[in-house]
Amino acid sequence: MPAYEINWSYKGDKGPENWGHICSDFEIAQTGEKQSPVDIQTDDVKNIDGSPIDFHYTETNFTMKRVENSVHLFPHEKDQYVTFRDDKYTLQAFHAHMPSEHHLDGESYPIEWHFVHENARGEKLVIGAFMEVGTNISIDLTNVRRAFPEVFKDFGIERELTLNVDDFLPEEKAFFSYEGSLTTPPTVEGITWIVLKNRRVFGHVAHKALEKVIGGTNRPIQELNGRKITFHK
Ligand SMILES: [Zn+2]
Repeated sequence: MPAYEINWSYKGDKGPENWGHICSDFEIAQTGEKQSPVDIQTDDVKNIDGSPIDFHYTETNFTMKRVENSVHLFPHEKDQYVTFRDDKYTLQAFHAHMPSEHHLDGESYPIEWHFVHENARGEKLVIGAFMEVGTNISIDLTNVRRAFPEVFKDFGIERELTLNVDDFLPEEKAFFSYEGSLTTPPTVEGITWIVLKNRRVFGHVAHKALEKVIGGTNRPIQELNGRKITFHK
């Protein structure tokens, strides 16, 4: 299937409530019991001392291009990684959703970045990082917000950006973790989620610019179905 044929959407007949009926590959959106995103009730999490994750990001080059209903950034080299429970997960790509997909105690945030990693066995780990909008800006997204609309309007357009993923993550990296799914079709399960509790602050100009392109790209909250969420600080 060519990349420019998009057979799902965030509203209407092909919106999230109907993803499971679009084709057999997407059925798990309807039948799965470990779907994402979820609302993280912080009073219900299991607190665990010590962090099993280490981040290994450096400033590096990314290609930005449109993928389905969003804009994704792909690192040129597969040398950006995290270690989680002694397993190495390499960054494959990242993108954002607006507003956030995960909630904390019922609250959503203006944006949630998803950093998609994979280990040698092809198992995925996704880091979710919220951001808030404000004047005490702790990340400059000027280059990102300028390129976003340009690549979104045409599948053939690419932009090159130099970024450090660490700049997108809060300095204090306490996180929630649970087993879930991808949040876009096919919403396959078996995904290790790392959702950072703290948040960087980005500016109003960037917020407006990005929202024009990817506003409304959040899948509704899914049932936990007894899954336990852990909290690591
Ligand atoms: Zn995502």
